[in-house]
Amino acid sequence: MRLGGCNLSCRWCDTPYTWDWQGVSDAGVAYDPKAELHRRDIPSVADELLGLGVDLVVISGGEPLNQQARLLPLVDTLLAASVEVEFETNGTRVPDSRLVRDGVRFNVSPKLSHAGDPVGKRIVPQALRRFAVIPGTTFKFVCRTAADLDEVQGLVAEFGITSVWIMPEGQSPDDVEKHMRELVDSIIDRGWNVTTRLHTLVWGAKRGV
Ligand code: SF4
Repeated sequence: MRLGGCNLSCRWCDTPYTWDWQGVSDAGVAYDPKAELHRRDIPSVADELLGLGVDLVVISGGEPLNQQARLLPLVDTLLAASVEVEFETNGTRVPDSRLVRDGVRFNVSPKLSHAGDPVGKRIVPQALRRFAVIPGTTFKFVCRTAADLDEVQGLVAEFGITSVWIMPEGQSPDDVEKHMRELVDSIIDRGWNVTTRLHTLVWGAKRGV
């Protein structure tokens, strides 16, 4: 489930249609919030998700925790139906304590300097320290260069992060493969995990429905 709105403005964002109304991202397109955003009530969203018959719902964005208080009833409904929930978040919002529970996990992706926002906006120590001690939380960092890995190393040390995944940045299969080849040995040497951008390898920058 993809939610609209984000409190960051990463230049390489692969979902700028969720937040970029001024055309500031690399896509260079000023998206129309009237066309992109649709107000939905929780019961109809829950019905639609449960109708999929899946056992895990990933809630992404944009930044989904910007709306976390309003999502509580949806999470309750999904868990009551034995559907687990994963939040993909940029790690700048302290999670509501009512979301920290069995059946809910967090995939936290703090943004590095190459994303473009000032450090005080993209790194929120209070939030990262909280996520770092929630069991089952994973941290995913989008990287291009060895210097990015050094930046990750600093965050890992500062916030006591233990589950580290590195994802190569890229909006095309060629870019993803290039960054993966350049970084993979150094990632393994540091004892971290590597993940690719499967959706980009399969569909490139093509937008889903
Ligand atoms: S935090 Fe995520 S959704 Fe928000 S601008 Fe950055 S990449 Fe895009």
